[in-house]
Amino acid sequence: MSDYQETLYEGYGQRFRMEKLLHEVRTDHQHLVIFQNPVMGRVMALDGVIQTTEADEFIYHEMLTHVPIFAHGAARRVLIIGGGDGGMLREVAKHHGVEHITMVEIDGTVVEMCKTFLPDHSKGAFEDPRLNLVIDDGMRFVATTEEKFDVIISDSTDPIGPGEILFTENFYQACHRCLNEGGILVTQNGTPFMQLDGVRTTAGRLRGLFADWHFYHAAVPTYIGGAMTFAWGATRPEYRKLPLDTLRARFAGSGIVTRYYNPEIHLGAFALPQYVLQAVNKPSNN
Ligand code: SAM
Repeated sequence: MSDYQETLYEGYGQRFRMEKLLHEVRTDHQHLVIFQNPVMGRVMALDGVIQTTEADEFIYHEMLTHVPIFAHGAARRVLIIGGGDGGMLREVAKHHGVEHITMVEIDGTVVEMCKTFLPDHSKGAFEDPRLNLVIDDGMRFVATTEEKFDVIISDSTDPIGPGEILFTENFYQACHRCLNEGGILVTQNGTPFMQLDGVRTTAGRLRGLFADWHFYHAAVPTYIGGAMTFAWGATRPEYRKLPLDTLRARFAGSGIVTRYYNPEIHLGAFALPQYVLQAVNKPSNN
């Protein structure tokens, strides 16, 4: 049995025992590996970076989905950028009030291989009649679409390779353009202990673009280096500071059963460590 060594960081990383290599392919966009690990279950990596595992994906997908949708309160149209493994789609589809889901994933092979080897991620959500699956670059989509959305979730790889463009000023501006009044953008923004510059840069790009911007966080074990931050850009400042009772009522009314998300975690997630606050409040030079 060989090991899989993540190569996201020089000199620091995580190793997974590869009990069984389930699939490996060089797609048109990236190097895809899916393997079985005795602790984390099935694991998918792209270009040497762990993307998702069966064991801890619920934390990430619940927090990037339910925080913006319960905060919005009346989301009908949701856009997912990336998310090829289908976990985000599965969580969004649980919201019966959502009438239309567009998912723009650059790599069709990721979708096909995750349907086959990670079926519990999507759990049939790719067959949801509300879904419009677009295989394209998310940047091109948000720059050209005439459609508008209530919630946009950027579930991308890290800012290397095809994902890099999803962290640019143009991308955030285009997402802002695609939001309805009251709309919310949330994005995967890395682990600040290891990628603090990325958080600082995003803050500089959201500042002045959104009426309210901030970050929230959750610790996802296989996104190593501590808690992961999620960027928040909202057109209504009050959506980040809803009363706990409002969130409790929305959560209870949804009938959604979660394993990580709850209204108390929702509000608490926006409380950030001092070193992250200092970084995001110090304007970056770009
Ligand atoms: N949870 C993971 C993380 O936090 O890094 C992300 C998982 S998901 C598999 C990331 C997806 O983003 C991949 O399927 C990848 O193909 C997709 N992606 C990367 N760049 C993209 C782009 N420019 N447009 C659309 N999808 C993109």
